[in-house]
Order: sequence, then structure tokens, then C-alpha cells
Amino acid sequence: MEERKQKVVVIGAGPVGSLAALYAANRGHDVEIYELRGDLRDPSTTPLNFTRSINLALSERGLNAMRHANQPRLIDYVMGVTIPMRGRMIHGKRPDGKLYEEAQDYDIHGRSILAIDRGDLNKRLLDMLEEMPNVTFFFNHKLTGADFKRNKAWFEVKDESTYNLRDRSREIEIDFDFMIGADGAHSAVRYHLMKFARMDYQQQYIDTLWCEFQIAPKADSSSSSAKSKFRISPNHLHIWPGKEFMFIAIPSEDGSFTCTLFAPAAIYEQLEADTTGTSIPQFFDKYFPGVTSLIAPADLVSQFQSNPHLPLISIKCKPYHFSSSVVIVGDAAHAMVPFYGQGMNAGLEDVRILFDILDKHDRMTNDDSSLEASQREIALAEYSAVRVPDAHAINDLALQNYIEMRSSVLSPVYRWRKALEEW
Ligand code: FAD
Repeated sequence: MEERKQKVVVIGAGPVGSLAALYAANRGHDVEIYELRGDLRDPSTTPLNFTRSINLALSERGLNAMRHANQPRLIDYVMGVTIPMRGRMIHGKRPDGKLYEEAQDYDIHGRSILAIDRGDLNKRLLDMLEEMPNVTFFFNHKLTGADFKRNKAWFEVKDESTYNLRDRSREIEIDFDFMIGADGAHSAVRYHLMKFARMDYQQQYIDTLWCEFQIAPKADSSSSSAKSKFRISPNHLHIWPGKEFMFIAIPSEDGSFTCTLFAPAAIYEQLEADTTGTSIPQFFDKYFPGVTSLIAPADLVSQFQSNPHLPLISIKCKPYHFSSSVVIVGDAAHAMVPFYGQGMNAGLEDVRILFDILDKHDRMTNDDSSLEASQREIALAEYSAVRVPDAHAINDLALQNYIEMRSSVLSPVYRWRKALEEW
């Protein structure tokens, strides 16, 4: 019997929404992806966070989810833009004033996590989706409303050709069988879901802001070996722990490093107040020794002053679904602070687990479409029950790991404990 095609709409074409769309498309559904921004592959599209796209640590959790997408080319395509990081490199200054670097491997068997530009990963997932005949993209479509009992949703369309001169946008209505909300930490799907599901919701802003910096590649790297374009080891996640704050650097393919300063808002306010900027290199010299030899002081000042200073949010909620009509995944369900390097990885894993559970219940329907919605409702309830405790645990681990990264890595007790574990 031919399977009845379901209309699956995915909200948000970030990494998690794109993978969810791939999974849904592979199952033969009619997939529509609605994305607030333009196509990321178009150079005129403003990237998320308005800066050059952030570098992420991609780990086995995320890779495994992509492996199960049933797209033989996907893993090689993604791996082509990754750099293995086998451990962290701690940077500091000894009491005699000498700078030191200390490598701490992640794994005694030498396994690595992978550095990847979030935009590069996202673009590759969009490329794979582009090849699927049952996927349609709707860029510049912002979800503004949803009724999960009548399975209808509304979008504001920002499309120059259809601009209404008064409000420069128009609204459309669609219907759907199943909506997957992957629209990030400030999710509109979650907001509307709350009106239907009896949702517990907890949001926390931590007292830390982040700002991006760049270490440029070596200027004279064109004729030398591939590794020499990097000014510090390309195979480590570099950390300058400052106890109450920290600076990190993650390698990029072109030999540069994307760096992030994490510090309390009060520190940012102090540095922002100095309009001359002179205190910025002084602050770096005091707490992150060696950085001013990698980023010239004038560049540190201009990058601090021009790049945004962004907050960090941690969100827990439950359940993740309502009836058979909607589920939220990725940051929409569990935005977390980035210190465990698992936010996106956990979001990709959501997709694998969600479709595992949907497939298990789908097999029970025997292609009887009248049973399909009720089986999906049971599947979504199982998904929420299985996933909520795990996602909450990762949120907590991420918060705890900030202390480990900015402070515990320096303590002799930490080194003793690690040495004992390895022994
Ligand atoms: P997003 O990437 O936020 O994508 C959501 C999409 O939905 C966007 O494209 C947005 O435009 C769209 N959207 C929003 N609202 C609407 C709407 N109303 N209608 C339609 N579309 C909408 N994770 C890791 O795994 N490893 C790391 O090393 C790591 N490092 C990080 C470092 C920093 C500094 C930060 C801030 C985060 C880090 N993360 C990391 C977390 C990671 O960036 C997120 O978990 C990941 O981007 C979440 O993906 P997503 O697809 O769920 O959401």
C-alpha cells in the first residue's frame, strides 16, 4: 500500500532544523522549512549573532545523529570542513613571569572532538536538503502564530517583491500535519506551544557576556606546510583561564582562530566605560598572558568595541510536545550555556532520538493513516518522557563546566585527580 504523505513543517533552518528536515524528507514526507532569515548561503544574509559565524566543537553525539540521517555523503561532506582537537591547551604565566602552555588530552586513546564553523555546517546541511525533491524552503518567513488544535500556522513574509508599502510585509496562513519547532533559544513555536501544553518553563540568564575576537593566520603561510599557517596549535581548544572569566580560541580552516571572551557583565561595563580602550590590552595582559602577542592591542580594542557583547541563556522546559501536532527540538527545547560544547550536539541528538521513536510507533500503524496521528501522539509523549531528563542533565553539566574551564583546570588538585584517573 502506498504511504499517505504527511506534511511536516520545520520552523528554523539552523543546524538542528536542517537535520530534522533531512530526517523527515528521508521518510518520504512533504517537508516545508520556514526560516526567519534569508538563505545562509547567500552572502547578503546577516549571520546569526551579527558576526562572523561562531566556531563550535562537534562531538560524537552530533556526528552520530548525522550518520543516522541516511545520507551517505553527509559525513564526508561535513568532515571536510572540520579540524580535530585532541585536547585543551591551557595558557598561563609562571610565578617567574615565563609563559607556559599545558596540553590536556581529552581521551587516553587519542580520540578528538572537531572544530567546525557553525555556518559551514549549516550550509552543508542546506545543500543536502536542496537535492531532495520533497523539500521546499521558505526563507524570510517568520512564524507569528500557531494553533496546534486546528494545525494552522501564520507567518510574516519579508519579501521585497511582495512588500506592502505600509508595513513592508504580508501574512500567510498554512496548515500542516506535524510541526517541528527548531527556531532557537527565543523560539516562537515554544511560545505558542505553551498556550496548548501544560508546560513547565524555566529561563536563566547567567551573569556572563561573550564577545568574539579573531587571531589572524600567519602572514607568510602561503608556501609552507599546512600546519604552519596557524599561530598556535591547530589541534587544541585553547583556554586562558582567568578564574572569574576566561578567553578561549578554536581553530578555523583558513589558519585563523575564533576566540571568545567570557566575563561577568561588570567586567564588560568597566572595559566599555574606557572609551580610549587602553584598559583592554592591559586587562588581557593581566589575565590572559600571551594573547596580545597573537592579537595586536589595537585589534583587540577595535574587535571589543565593534563586536556585539551577547548574553548567555539557559532554558529548561517540559513537555516538548502537544498532542500529535508539534514538538520542539534543539535550543528551542533546551538552550544551554556553551561551556560543555554540547548545545548543538544535543540538538542534533534530539533529532535522532525523536525519529527513532517515531519510526518505532510508525511501524505499529501498518500504513493505516487513521491510526497515524494517534500513534504519533503516543510517540511524542514517549519522546518528551525520554528526552527531558537527559536534556536537563546536559544543561546542568554545561553550567558546572564553566567553573571547570575557567578555574579548576588551574588547580593542583584537579591535576592530581586527572593523573590518578589516568593511572
Ligand atoms: P539556532 O542555531 O538558534 O537556529 C534557529 C533558527 O531558527 C535560526 O536560523 C533562526 O533564524 C530561526 N528562527 C528563529 N525564530 C524564528 C521564527 N519565528 N520563524 C522562523 N524561523 C525562526 N554547541 C555545541 O554543540 N558545541 C559548541 O562548541 C558550542 N559552542 C557555542 C559557543 C557559543 C558562544 C554559543 C553562543 C553557542 C555555542 N553552542 C555550541 C550552542 C549552539 O550554537 C546551539 O546549540 C545551536 O546553534 C542550536 O541550534 P538550533 O538549530 O537549535 O538553533
